Amino acid sequence: MDEVVRELFRANDRHVTTRQDTLGGLQEGQRPELLTVSCGDSRVLQDGMWDDRPPGHIFTHSNIGNRVRQQTERGKVIAGDVLYPLVHTGTETVLVVGHTGCGAVTAAYRSLTEGIEDRPGIEHCVRLIEDDLSAALDSLPRISLTTRR
Ligand SMILES: [Zn+2]
Repeated sequence: MDEVVRELFRANDRHVTTRQDTLGGLQEGQRPELLTVSCGDSRVLQDGMWDDRPPGHIFTHSNIGNRVRQQTERGKVIAGDVLYPLVHTGTETVLVVGHTGCGAVTAAYRSLTEGIEDRPGIEHCVRLIEDDLSAALDSLPRISLTTRR
């Protein structure tokens, strides 16, 4: 097993040990106060972003570009990852967290302004961002982006 994975398991053991009191109370269900949707970018750490909140307070979801919609055969809908806590856990507040230098948003911008495409699975995600970004594109300043992949 890779050392990176072994260290993660050790960290999880420490997490379970230090959170034993609060985790036990959550075995029967959850009622998080807040849903946060953030980018999966490795520089954006949702777990530490809000100080050290105890388990059960924040339902978190991450994806590239902090998207909240998904494409279905019936059209664009609120993503199931976002809808689930609202429908099934009583969460009433959603906070979408963007960040500086988002690669997915940059890819959507470049796709719209320069026609640059990516691999199909990534392209699907970028297209969803493009739909929202294109509405504001005319009001954004034209910027020159360097390629950082
Ligand atoms: Zn990002």
